[in-house]
Amino acid sequence: MSSLPLVLNGARCSFVVVGGGDVATRKVKTLVRSGASVRVISPQVSEYIQALADAKSITLELKTAGDEVYQASDYVVLATDSTEANQTQADLARKAGARVCRTDEPEDNDFSFPAVIDRSPLKIAVSTSGSTPALTRYVRERIEAFIPDDYSRLALWMETLRNRLRAEGSSKERGQFWRRWMRSQAPEQILARHPDLAEAITEKLLNGEDEVRGEVFLVGAGPGDPDLLTFRALRLIQMADVVFYDRLVSPRIMDLIPTDAEKIYVGKARSDHAVPQGDINQRLVVEAQQGKRVLRLKGGDPFIFGRGGEEIEELAEAGVPFQVVPGITAASGCSAYSGIPLTHRDHAQSVRFVTGHMKNGTCDLPWNELIHPSQTLVIYMGLVGLPEICKQLIAHGMPSDTPIALVEKGTLPDQKVHTGTLNTMPDYVKGREIQAPTLTIVGSVVNLHSKLGWR
Ligand code: SAH
Repeated sequence: MSSLPLVLNGARCSFVVVGGGDVATRKVKTLVRSGASVRVISPQVSEYIQALADAKSITLELKTAGDEVYQASDYVVLATDSTEANQTQADLARKAGARVCRTDEPEDNDFSFPAVIDRSPLKIAVSTSGSTPALTRYVRERIEAFIPDDYSRLALWMETLRNRLRAEGSSKERGQFWRRWMRSQAPEQILARHPDLAEAITEKLLNGEDEVRGEVFLVGAGPGDPDLLTFRALRLIQMADVVFYDRLVSPRIMDLIPTDAEKIYVGKARSDHAVPQGDINQRLVVEAQQGKRVLRLKGGDPFIFGRGGEEIEELAEAGVPFQVVPGITAASGCSAYSGIPLTHRDHAQSVRFVTGHMKNGTCDLPWNELIHPSQTLVIYMGLVGLPEICKQLIAHGMPSDTPIALVEKGTLPDQKVHTGTLNTMPDYVKGREIQAPTLTIVGSVVNLHSKLGWR
Protein backbone atom coordinates (compact mmCIF):
# COMPACT_ATOMS: atom_id res chain seq x y z
CA MET A 1 0.00 0.00 0.00
CA SER A 2 1.45 3.36 -0.91
CA SER A 3 0.88 6.05 1.66
CA LEU A 4 1.59 9.69 2.38
CA PRO A 5 1.99 10.94 5.94
CA LEU A 6 0.52 14.41 6.44
CA VAL A 7 0.15 16.55 9.54
CA LEU A 8 -3.30 18.03 9.99
CA ASN A 9 -4.12 21.15 11.92
CA GLY A 10 -6.43 19.58 14.49
CA ALA A 11 -8.34 22.77 15.19
CA ARG A 12 -9.39 22.99 11.54
CA CYS A 13 -10.67 19.44 11.10
CA SER A 14 -14.01 17.88 11.87
CA PHE A 15 -14.34 14.19 12.47
CA VAL A 16 -17.33 11.90 12.71
CA VAL A 17 -16.77 8.75 14.72
CA VAL A 18 -19.32 5.99 14.18
CA GLY A 19 -19.34 3.53 17.08
CA GLY A 20 -19.13 3.82 20.86
CA GLY A 21 -17.05 0.86 22.07
CA ASP A 22 -13.38 0.52 23.04
CA VAL A 23 -11.94 1.18 19.59
CA ALA A 24 -14.14 4.22 19.06
CA THR A 25 -13.25 5.50 22.54
CA ARG A 26 -9.52 5.29 21.82
CA LYS A 27 -9.93 7.22 18.57
CA VAL A 28 -12.14 9.84 20.20
CA LYS A 29 -9.51 10.35 22.91
CA THR A 30 -6.82 10.94 20.30
CA LEU A 31 -9.00 13.29 18.29
CA VAL A 32 -10.11 15.38 21.25
CA ARG A 33 -6.49 15.80 22.29
CA SER A 34 -5.67 17.15 18.82
CA GLY A 35 -8.24 19.92 19.20
CA ALA A 36 -10.40 18.60 16.34
CA SER A 37 -14.16 18.96 16.46
CA VAL A 38 -15.63 15.50 17.06
CA ARG A 39 -19.13 14.13 16.55
CA VAL A 40 -19.89 10.64 17.78
CA ILE A 41 -22.80 8.70 16.28
CA SER A 42 -23.85 5.49 18.00
CA PRO A 43 -26.93 4.12 19.79
CA GLN A 44 -24.72 3.22 22.76
CA VAL A 45 -21.44 4.69 23.95
CA SER A 46 -18.81 4.10 26.62
CA GLU A 47 -18.84 6.07 29.87
CA TYR A 48 -15.78 7.94 28.67
CA ILE A 49 -17.50 9.16 25.51
CA GLN A 50 -20.63 10.06 27.51
CA ALA A 51 -18.49 12.08 29.93
CA LEU A 52 -16.86 13.97 27.05
CA ALA A 53 -20.30 14.73 25.67
CA ASP A 54 -21.52 15.90 29.09
CA ALA A 55 -18.51 18.20 29.28
CA LYS A 56 -19.35 19.49 25.79
CA SER A 57 -15.95 18.42 24.46
CA ILE A 58 -17.70 16.45 21.70
CA THR A 59 -21.19 16.24 20.19
CA LEU A 60 -22.98 12.98 20.70
CA GLU A 61 -25.94 11.61 18.77
CA LEU A 62 -27.34 8.43 20.25
CA LYS A 63 -28.64 6.84 17.04
CA THR A 64 -27.66 4.66 14.10
CA ALA A 65 -25.74 6.59 11.46
CA GLY A 66 -27.41 7.44 8.14
CA ASP A 67 -26.18 9.41 5.15
CA GLU A 68 -27.33 12.75 6.62
CA VAL A 69 -24.47 12.72 9.16
CA TYR A 70 -21.76 12.81 6.53
CA GLN A 71 -22.79 15.93 4.68
CA ALA A 72 -20.56 18.38 6.52
CA SER A 73 -17.70 16.07 7.56
CA ASP A 74 -14.11 15.95 6.36
CA TYR A 75 -13.14 12.71 8.00
CA VAL A 76 -15.09 9.70 9.13
CA VAL A 77 -13.86 6.98 11.48
CA LEU A 78 -15.87 3.78 11.30
CA ALA A 79 -15.52 1.78 14.49
CA THR A 80 -18.70 -0.24 14.92
CA ASP A 81 -18.33 -3.92 15.75
CA SER A 82 -19.98 -5.00 12.50
CA THR A 83 -18.02 -5.28 9.28
CA GLU A 84 -21.22 -4.99 7.26
CA ALA A 85 -22.28 -1.81 9.03
CA ASN A 86 -18.81 -0.34 8.54
CA GLN A 87 -18.99 -1.21 4.83
CA THR A 88 -22.42 0.36 4.36
CA GLN A 89 -21.38 3.50 6.24
CA ALA A 90 -18.13 3.73 4.27
CA ASP A 91 -20.11 3.79 1.02
CA LEU A 92 -22.47 6.47 2.35
CA ALA A 93 -19.65 8.61 3.70
CA ARG A 94 -17.67 8.45 0.48
CA LYS A 95 -20.73 9.35 -1.54
CA ALA A 96 -21.00 12.48 0.61
CA GLY A 97 -17.37 13.31 -0.17
CA ALA A 98 -15.80 12.39 3.20
CA ARG A 99 -12.59 10.44 3.73
CA VAL A 100 -12.89 7.19 5.61
CA CYS A 101 -10.86 5.26 8.16
CA ARG A 102 -12.13 1.75 8.83
CA THR A 103 -10.80 0.26 12.00
CA ASP A 104 -11.69 -3.27 10.81
CA GLU A 105 -10.42 -3.20 7.21
CA PRO A 106 -7.20 -1.21 6.89
CA GLU A 107 -6.98 -2.04 3.17
CA ASP A 108 -10.12 -0.02 2.60
CA ASN A 109 -8.80 3.12 4.35
CA ASP A 110 -8.52 6.60 2.91
CA PHE A 111 -6.51 7.54 5.99
CA SER A 112 -5.26 5.85 9.15
CA PHE A 113 -3.97 6.82 12.57
CA PRO A 114 -0.26 6.55 13.22
CA ALA A 115 1.14 5.70 16.65
CA VAL A 116 2.39 8.97 18.11
CA ILE A 117 5.29 9.85 20.36
CA ASP A 118 4.06 13.09 21.82
CA ARG A 119 6.67 15.62 22.93
CA SER A 120 4.57 18.57 21.90
CA PRO A 121 5.24 20.62 19.92
CA LEU A 122 7.40 17.76 18.65
CA LYS A 123 5.36 14.80 17.49
CA ILE A 124 6.75 11.65 15.96
CA ALA A 125 4.31 9.49 14.05
CA VAL A 126 4.90 5.84 13.25
CA SER A 127 2.74 4.11 10.71
CA THR A 128 2.36 0.88 8.81
CA SER A 129 -0.88 2.26 7.31
CA GLY A 130 -2.89 0.13 9.69
CA SER A 131 -1.46 -3.12 8.32
CA THR A 132 0.61 -4.25 11.32
CA PRO A 133 -0.39 -2.36 14.46
CA ALA A 134 1.79 -4.58 16.68
CA LEU A 135 4.93 -3.53 14.79
CA THR A 136 3.86 0.11 14.89
CA ARG A 137 3.45 -0.08 18.65
CA TYR A 138 6.77 -1.84 19.07
CA VAL A 139 8.64 0.77 17.06
CA ARG A 140 6.88 3.53 18.92
CA GLU A 141 7.92 2.09 22.28
CA ARG A 142 11.52 1.87 21.12
CA ILE A 143 11.61 5.44 19.91
CA GLU A 144 9.76 6.55 23.04
CA ALA A 145 12.63 5.22 25.12
CA PHE A 146 15.21 7.31 23.27
CA ILE A 147 13.38 10.60 23.17
CA PRO A 148 13.03 11.77 26.76
CA ASP A 149 10.06 13.85 27.87
CA ASP A 150 12.43 16.79 28.05
CA TYR A 151 12.31 17.08 24.28
CA SER A 152 9.13 19.08 24.76
CA ARG A 153 11.19 21.69 26.56
CA LEU A 154 13.83 21.59 23.84
CA ALA A 155 11.22 22.00 21.12
CA LEU A 156 9.58 24.94 22.89
CA TRP A 157 12.94 26.63 23.39
CA MET A 158 13.75 26.25 19.70
CA GLU A 159 10.35 27.53 18.72
CA THR A 160 10.90 30.67 20.79
CA LEU A 161 14.34 31.22 19.28
CA ARG A 162 12.97 30.72 15.78
CA ASN A 163 10.20 33.25 16.39
CA ARG A 164 12.73 35.70 17.75
CA LEU A 165 14.99 35.34 14.71
CA ARG A 166 12.01 35.77 12.41
CA ALA A 167 10.85 38.88 14.23
CA GLU A 168 14.34 40.33 13.92
CA GLY A 169 14.15 39.56 10.21
CA SER A 170 17.36 37.61 10.57
CA SER A 171 18.50 35.69 7.53
CA LYS A 172 20.27 33.39 9.97
CA GLU A 173 16.94 31.91 10.67
CA ARG A 174 17.39 29.18 8.12
CA GLY A 175 19.60 26.31 7.05
CA GLN A 176 23.23 26.64 8.07
CA PHE A 177 22.60 28.20 11.42
CA TRP A 178 20.20 25.54 12.61
CA ARG A 179 22.40 22.75 11.37
CA ARG A 180 25.29 24.12 13.41
CA TRP A 181 23.03 24.78 16.34
CA MET A 182 21.74 21.22 16.46
CA ARG A 183 25.30 19.89 16.41
CA SER A 184 26.43 22.31 19.10
CA GLN A 185 26.08 21.69 22.80
CA ALA A 186 23.12 24.03 23.07
CA PRO A 187 20.44 21.30 22.83
CA GLU A 188 22.17 19.20 25.47
CA GLN A 189 22.46 22.25 27.74
CA ILE A 190 18.73 22.81 27.48
CA LEU A 191 18.09 19.19 28.39
CA ALA A 192 20.51 19.59 31.32
CA ARG A 193 18.50 22.66 32.43
CA HIS A 194 21.22 25.21 31.70
CA PRO A 195 19.30 27.58 29.42
CA ASP A 196 21.83 30.34 30.20
CA LEU A 197 24.64 28.26 28.71
CA ALA A 198 22.48 27.36 25.71
CA GLU A 199 21.81 31.06 25.26
CA ALA A 200 25.53 31.88 25.31
CA ILE A 201 26.34 29.21 22.73
CA THR A 202 23.47 30.42 20.55
CA GLU A 203 24.72 34.01 20.64
CA LYS A 204 28.18 32.86 19.59
CA LEU A 205 26.81 30.89 16.69
CA LEU A 206 24.63 33.83 15.65
CA ASN A 207 27.72 36.02 15.61
CA GLY A 208 29.33 33.56 13.26
CA GLU A 209 31.82 32.42 15.88
CA ASP A 210 32.56 28.76 16.15
CA GLU A 211 31.74 27.14 19.37
CA VAL A 212 35.05 26.44 21.05
CA ARG A 213 33.77 25.29 24.33
CA GLY A 214 34.59 21.79 25.40
CA GLU A 215 32.83 19.89 28.09
CA VAL A 216 33.42 16.77 30.12
CA PHE A 217 30.73 14.16 30.67
CA LEU A 218 31.52 12.04 33.69
CA VAL A 219 29.30 9.07 33.02
CA GLY A 220 28.58 5.97 35.05
CA ALA A 221 28.41 2.99 32.71
CA GLY A 222 26.86 0.65 35.27
CA PRO A 223 28.15 -2.80 36.15
CA GLY A 224 28.43 -4.19 32.62
CA ASP A 225 25.10 -5.12 31.08
CA PRO A 226 24.49 -2.36 28.48
CA ASP A 227 20.77 -2.55 29.20
CA LEU A 228 21.51 -0.99 32.56
CA LEU A 229 22.77 2.27 31.08
CA THR A 230 20.63 5.34 31.63
CA PHE A 231 19.13 7.14 28.62
CA ARG A 232 21.30 10.15 29.33
CA ALA A 233 24.42 8.02 29.52
CA LEU A 234 23.67 6.53 26.13
CA ARG A 235 22.99 9.93 24.58
CA LEU A 236 26.24 11.40 25.87
CA ILE A 237 28.20 8.31 24.84
CA GLN A 238 26.92 8.80 21.30
CA MET A 239 28.00 12.46 21.27
CA ALA A 240 31.60 12.01 22.39
CA ASP A 241 34.63 13.24 20.45
CA VAL A 242 37.09 11.56 22.78
CA VAL A 243 36.58 8.87 25.40
CA PHE A 244 38.66 8.02 28.46
CA TYR A 245 37.64 4.63 29.77
CA ASP A 246 38.88 2.08 32.20
CA ARG A 247 38.94 -1.65 32.68
CA LEU A 248 35.49 -1.99 34.18
CA VAL A 249 33.65 -0.67 31.14
CA SER A 250 32.37 -3.76 29.33
CA PRO A 251 33.16 -4.35 25.64
CA ARG A 252 29.46 -4.29 24.78
CA ILE A 253 29.23 -0.77 26.16
CA MET A 254 32.41 0.26 24.32
CA ASP A 255 30.63 -0.81 21.12
CA LEU A 256 28.15 2.03 21.62
CA ILE A 257 30.86 4.70 21.27
CA PRO A 258 30.87 6.37 17.83
CA THR A 259 33.50 4.75 15.62
CA ASP A 260 35.17 8.07 14.84
CA ALA A 261 35.63 9.00 18.52
CA GLU A 262 39.14 8.68 19.90
CA LYS A 263 39.29 6.03 22.61
CA ILE A 264 41.93 6.30 25.31
CA TYR A 265 42.45 3.55 27.86
CA VAL A 266 43.36 4.87 31.29
CA GLY A 267 42.36 1.84 33.29
CA LYS A 268 44.31 0.29 36.03
CA ALA A 269 44.78 -3.37 36.54
CA ARG A 270 45.14 -3.69 40.28
CA SER A 271 48.91 -3.72 40.36
CA ASP A 272 49.80 -1.70 37.32
CA HIS A 273 48.61 1.86 37.34
CA ALA A 274 48.30 2.48 33.61
CA VAL A 275 47.89 6.22 33.92
CA PRO A 276 48.33 7.97 37.27
CA GLN A 277 45.16 9.63 38.51
CA GLY A 278 46.70 13.10 38.41
CA ASP A 279 47.49 12.66 34.72
CA ILE A 280 43.95 11.55 33.93
CA ASN A 281 42.53 14.61 35.67
CA GLN A 282 44.90 16.83 33.73
CA ARG A 283 44.18 15.24 30.35
CA LEU A 284 40.46 15.70 30.80
CA VAL A 285 41.06 19.41 31.31
CA VAL A 286 43.38 19.72 28.30
CA GLU A 287 41.09 17.88 25.86
CA ALA A 288 38.05 19.88 26.95
CA GLN A 289 39.98 23.13 26.59
CA GLN A 290 40.56 22.19 22.96
CA GLY A 291 36.81 22.38 22.51
CA LYS A 292 36.10 18.65 22.54
CA ARG A 293 33.27 16.76 24.09
CA VAL A 294 35.14 14.53 26.45
CA LEU A 295 33.49 11.43 27.78
CA ARG A 296 34.93 10.05 31.00
CA LEU A 297 33.32 6.65 31.16
CA LYS A 298 33.53 4.76 34.41
CA GLY A 299 32.22 1.42 35.61
CA GLY A 300 29.26 1.51 37.97
CA ASP A 301 28.57 4.89 39.51
CA PRO A 302 31.27 7.55 39.19
CA PHE A 303 30.81 8.72 42.77
CA ILE A 304 31.06 5.31 44.41
CA PHE A 305 34.68 4.21 44.78
CA GLY A 306 35.21 5.71 41.36
CA ARG A 307 37.35 8.78 42.05
CA GLY A 308 34.80 10.76 40.09
CA GLY A 309 34.96 13.45 42.72
CA GLU A 310 38.70 13.97 42.25
CA GLU A 311 38.36 14.21 38.50
CA ILE A 312 35.71 16.88 38.50
CA GLU A 313 37.41 18.85 41.26
CA GLU A 314 40.20 19.54 38.83
CA LEU A 315 37.70 20.43 36.10
CA ALA A 316 35.89 22.81 38.41
CA GLU A 317 39.17 24.50 39.33
CA ALA A 318 40.06 24.92 35.65
CA GLY A 319 36.60 26.28 34.86
CA VAL A 320 35.79 23.44 32.45
CA PRO A 321 32.05 22.73 32.30
CA PHE A 322 31.02 19.20 33.16
CA GLN A 323 28.03 16.97 33.77
CA VAL A 324 27.84 13.92 36.00
CA VAL A 325 25.57 11.02 35.08
CA PRO A 326 24.90 8.43 37.76
CA GLY A 327 25.25 4.77 36.96
CA ILE A 328 24.03 1.60 38.59
CA THR A 329 26.67 0.76 41.10
CA ALA A 330 28.08 -2.77 41.35
CA ALA A 331 26.26 -3.34 44.65
CA SER A 332 22.84 -2.71 43.04
CA GLY A 333 23.63 -4.59 39.85
CA CYS A 334 25.11 -7.63 41.60
CA SER A 335 22.38 -7.66 44.22
CA ALA A 336 19.59 -7.64 41.62
CA TYR A 337 21.21 -10.11 39.23
CA SER A 338 22.11 -12.58 41.98
CA GLY A 339 18.80 -12.42 43.84
CA ILE A 340 20.41 -11.12 47.04
CA PRO A 341 18.41 -8.14 48.30
CA LEU A 342 20.73 -5.83 50.22
CA THR A 343 18.03 -5.00 52.74
CA HIS A 344 15.14 -7.21 53.77
CA ARG A 345 12.85 -6.77 56.75
CA ASP A 346 13.74 -10.22 58.12
CA HIS A 347 17.50 -9.87 57.63
CA ALA A 348 19.01 -6.42 57.34
CA GLN A 349 17.80 -2.91 58.03
CA SER A 350 20.93 -1.23 56.79
CA VAL A 351 23.65 -1.74 54.25
CA ARG A 352 27.20 -0.55 54.26
CA PHE A 353 29.52 -0.17 51.28
CA VAL A 354 33.25 -0.43 51.99
CA THR A 355 36.38 -0.88 49.96
CA GLY A 356 38.51 -3.93 50.67
CA HIS A 357 41.45 -2.54 48.73
CA MET A 358 44.70 -3.77 50.31
CA LYS A 359 47.61 -1.50 51.05
CA ASN A 360 50.83 -2.97 52.42
CA GLY A 361 49.17 -6.37 53.00
CA THR A 362 46.27 -5.07 55.08
CA CYS A 363 43.02 -3.22 54.59
CA ASP A 364 42.37 -0.33 56.80
CA LEU A 365 38.74 -0.70 57.86
CA PRO A 366 36.84 0.25 61.03
CA TRP A 367 36.20 -3.43 61.80
CA ASN A 368 34.15 -2.89 64.97
CA GLU A 369 31.63 -0.81 63.08
CA LEU A 370 31.19 -3.52 60.47
CA ILE A 371 30.02 -6.13 62.96
CA HIS A 372 26.28 -5.69 63.20
CA PRO A 373 23.71 -8.49 63.09
CA SER A 374 21.16 -6.69 60.92
CA GLN A 375 23.51 -4.94 58.52
CA THR A 376 24.56 -6.14 55.08
CA LEU A 377 28.17 -5.49 54.23
CA VAL A 378 29.13 -4.90 50.62
CA ILE A 379 32.84 -4.98 49.90
CA TYR A 380 34.16 -3.48 46.68
CA MET A 381 37.65 -4.49 45.53
CA GLY A 382 37.68 -7.21 48.14
CA LEU A 383 38.79 -10.28 46.19
CA VAL A 384 42.53 -10.18 46.84
CA GLY A 385 42.03 -9.28 50.48
CA LEU A 386 39.30 -11.84 51.05
CA PRO A 387 41.21 -14.10 53.50
CA GLU A 388 42.29 -11.08 55.52
CA ILE A 389 38.76 -9.62 55.51
CA CYS A 390 37.16 -12.89 56.69
CA LYS A 391 39.83 -13.28 59.37
CA GLN A 392 39.37 -9.75 60.70
CA LEU A 393 35.57 -9.93 60.71
CA ILE A 394 35.69 -13.14 62.76
CA ALA A 395 38.37 -11.72 65.06
CA HIS A 396 36.17 -8.70 65.74
CA GLY A 397 33.18 -10.81 66.69
CA MET A 398 31.24 -11.69 63.55
CA PRO A 399 30.01 -15.31 63.75
CA SER A 400 32.22 -17.48 61.57
CA ASP A 401 29.16 -19.09 59.97
CA THR A 402 27.92 -15.72 58.63
CA PRO A 403 26.93 -16.22 54.98
CA ILE A 404 29.09 -14.58 52.33
CA ALA A 405 28.68 -14.34 48.56
CA LEU A 406 31.12 -13.47 45.83
CA VAL A 407 29.43 -12.15 42.71
CA GLU A 408 31.89 -12.62 39.89
CA LYS A 409 31.38 -10.49 36.76
CA GLY A 410 28.02 -9.33 38.02
CA THR A 411 25.30 -8.62 35.37
CA LEU A 412 27.53 -9.92 32.56
CA PRO A 413 26.55 -13.02 30.57
CA ASP A 414 29.17 -15.09 32.43
CA GLN A 415 28.19 -13.92 35.92
CA LYS A 416 28.84 -16.49 38.68
CA VAL A 417 27.66 -16.41 42.27
CA HIS A 418 29.78 -18.23 44.88
CA THR A 419 28.38 -18.66 48.37
CA GLY A 420 29.81 -19.93 51.63
CA THR A 421 30.58 -18.66 55.12
CA LEU A 422 33.31 -16.46 56.55
CA ASN A 423 34.90 -19.69 57.66
CA THR A 424 34.78 -21.60 54.39
CA MET A 425 35.18 -18.90 51.75
CA PRO A 426 38.95 -18.30 51.96
CA ASP A 427 39.69 -21.98 51.23
CA TYR A 428 36.97 -22.14 48.59
CA VAL A 429 38.57 -19.24 46.73
CA LYS A 430 42.04 -20.79 46.89
CA GLY A 431 40.99 -23.74 44.78
CA ARG A 432 39.37 -21.64 42.05
CA GLU A 433 40.19 -19.02 39.50
CA ILE A 434 37.74 -16.32 40.44
CA GLN A 435 38.07 -13.35 38.18
CA ALA A 436 37.73 -9.61 38.61
CA PRO A 437 35.52 -7.76 38.92
CA THR A 438 34.05 -9.51 41.92
CA LEU A 439 31.88 -8.04 44.62
CA THR A 440 31.61 -9.44 48.13
CA ILE A 441 28.34 -9.45 50.08
CA VAL A 442 28.29 -10.46 53.73
CA GLY A 443 25.20 -11.06 55.85
CA SER A 444 22.19 -13.32 56.22
CA VAL A 445 20.56 -11.85 53.07
CA VAL A 446 22.98 -14.08 51.17
CA ASN A 447 20.82 -17.06 52.18
CA LEU A 448 18.05 -15.68 49.96
CA HIS A 449 20.11 -16.34 46.84
CA SER A 450 19.13 -20.03 46.70
CA LYS A 451 15.45 -19.00 46.56
CA LEU A 452 15.57 -15.69 44.69
CA GLY A 453 18.44 -16.24 42.26
CA TRP A 454 16.77 -15.88 38.88
CA ARG A 455 19.62 -15.88 36.40
N1 SAH B 1 32.39 2.88 40.62
C1 SAH B 1 32.20 1.45 40.63
C2 SAH B 1 33.14 0.74 41.59
C3 SAH B 1 34.58 0.86 41.24
S1 SAH B 1 35.60 -0.04 42.35
C4 SAH B 1 30.76 1.13 40.97
O1 SAH B 1 29.99 2.03 41.38
O2 SAH B 1 30.36 -0.02 40.83
C5 SAH B 1 35.80 -1.55 41.49
C6 SAH B 1 35.12 -2.69 42.21
O3 SAH B 1 33.72 -2.67 41.92
C7 SAH B 1 35.56 -4.04 41.75
O4 SAH B 1 36.75 -4.44 42.40
C8 SAH B 1 34.40 -4.91 42.17
O5 SAH B 1 34.44 -5.18 43.54
C9 SAH B 1 33.23 -3.98 41.94
N2 SAH B 1 32.59 -4.24 40.64
C10 SAH B 1 32.46 -3.39 39.60
N3 SAH B 1 31.78 -3.95 38.58
C11 SAH B 1 31.48 -5.19 38.98
C12 SAH B 1 30.78 -6.28 38.39
N4 SAH B 1 30.26 -6.19 37.16
N5 SAH B 1 30.65 -7.42 39.10
C13 SAH B 1 31.16 -7.52 40.33
N6 SAH B 1 31.82 -6.53 40.93
C14 SAH B 1 31.98 -5.39 40.29
